[in-house]
Amino acid sequence: MADQTYDYDVLIIGAGPGGYVAAIRAAQLGLKTACVESRETLGGTCLNVGCIPSKALLHGSELFEEAQAGGHLEKFGVKFDKVTLDLAKMMDEKSSAVKDLTGGIEFLFKKNKVTWLKGHAAFKDAHTVDVGGTAHTAKNIVIATGSSVTPLPGVDVDNDKLRIVDSTGALKLGEVPEHLVVIGGGVIGLELGSVWRRLGAKVTVVEFLDALLPGMDGDLRKEAARLFKKQGMELKLSTKVTAAKVSGKTVTLTVEPAAGGDAETIKASHVLVSIGRRPNTDGLGLDTIGLALNKRGQIETDHDFRTAIPGVWAIGDVIPGPMLAHKAEDEGIAVAENIAGQTGIVNHALIPGVVYTMPEFASVGLTEEEAKAEGHTIKVGKFPMMANSRAKTNRDTDGFVKIIADADSDRVLGVHIVASLAGTMIAQATQAMEFGATSEDIAYTCHAHPTHSEAVKEAAMAVQGKPIHM
Ligand code: FAD
Ligand code: NAD
Repeated sequence: MADQTYDYDVLIIGAGPGGYVAAIRAAQLGLKTACVESRETLGGTCLNVGCIPSKALLHGSELFEEAQAGGHLEKFGVKFDKVTLDLAKMMDEKSSAVKDLTGGIEFLFKKNKVTWLKGHAAFKDAHTVDVGGTAHTAKNIVIATGSSVTPLPGVDVDNDKLRIVDSTGALKLGEVPEHLVVIGGGVIGLELGSVWRRLGAKVTVVEFLDALLPGMDGDLRKEAARLFKKQGMELKLSTKVTAAKVSGKTVTLTVEPAAGGDAETIKASHVLVSIGRRPNTDGLGLDTIGLALNKRGQIETDHDFRTAIPGVWAIGDVIPGPMLAHKAEDEGIAVAENIAGQTGIVNHALIPGVVYTMPEFASVGLTEEEAKAEGHTIKVGKFPMMANSRAKTNRDTDGFVKIIADADSDRVLGVHIVASLAGTMIAQATQAMEFGATSEDIAYTCHAHPTHSEAVKEAAMAVQGKPIHM
């Protein structure tokens, strides 16, 4: 039963994977729940302009590349006279996936009796938000406002003109770029860079650091540079962009060595700015309730997702931790359970991360660098996909599985995978680690044959120095 003092037991600001999941779980637990969302559709960044549309284009562009002469299909005797691209159709299919999924959340809200308050929310006090001039009160308010693209000074994004774009613009280009320069060799740059390279663009990635994919295990970062170069991307590492000027259909970029030195210019038809994302807190009225941000502009919470203000909670991209949809979702479930008086927990040490390129890059737990820095003595088992029978049969042998175990206890500390199905394979590693597995536990678990997952078992056997197929 709702507390009579308030309109709602729980009011959630933002209907991304953090907010909409929190709302559904809160309603399932019998709490009177509202969710405020200012977009026209539910699902947040993830469903509207993130995970889902990017994966639709990754899938479509992968099919296009596989069908090319000399591509994967031809290898297996599937031939086409001529493969052509209908970009508008590919974009329609992406939009229809987005529509299906965002509509699905609207259905779930109705089914679970979650009230969708349409509009922008701002705090009036710790138990009241204003939405379009109407005040709504709640015993508990959850901030799940997500994140937006980090701007790059000197490089002005214009997602209408579609010449210099961020990820949202790169998901709706009306033509295949002749030359796409991607600023930032992180997840978005490599995923969306891959999409447009597969569809025919020359792609140059300009990355400030000396390696791609910051935060991932060093071996994966090295393999990423090797594989993306092999696929035809030009990589300019240890390089920064200082300016971009649009003239007609050409963008002239000024780039410099990251450590300083002579500048040069690069001409591009299109530019994608993907240098990270920052928390959405502007216009929320946090000052009104006295809620301060940390140095990175994030809202700090305790283990239960409580902020410093009683009754106000926060989850997802707006709080510290990896900016990932599944992390936001799990926090959404946990915060609702905590509000309902249950014990909601998220194990932040085991949030898997996946880059959905071909092959995929997936990681969970500690990298080798982190394990050593934490003082562990480690044993490492590696198994190449080249020696996995299913990958060999399918002719997709790029990559490897790397398992890092503690040398004394054999407990698995981290698993890092490069493989066509790495994003699927990482789930078993995450689950094993959640149960405190040793490498021996994984090595003696029966894995179906022939599957890519057998490479995880073999890498675990390699920790003891005894893989069978290598
Ligand atoms: P969001 O999804 O950002 O949702 C917040 C919502 O709050 C938004 O809809 C916003 O409109 C609303 N809002 C904000 N302020 C207010 C306000 N004051 N009043 C009302 N509403 C408000 N993650 C993955 O795990 N896997 C992927 O494959 C993946 N791919 C991605 C691809 C791209 C191109 C991008 C940009 C991101 C991707 N991400 C991916 C990251 C993922 O989208 C985010 O981590 C996730 O959406 C965060 O969820 P959230 O609920 O915290 O916030
Ligand atoms: P990112 O942090 O992954 O990568 C940004 C890259 O830009 C880094 O390598 C950084 O060194 C580089 N960089 C920063 N400033 C630069 C500059 N001035 N010049 C050149 N390089 C510069 O960020 P992103 O790719 O924008 O993605 C944002 C977030 O969205 C990520 O945190 C990620 O978690 C999330 N995301 C996840 C997925 C997924 O899970 N598959 C997909 C897309 C986005």
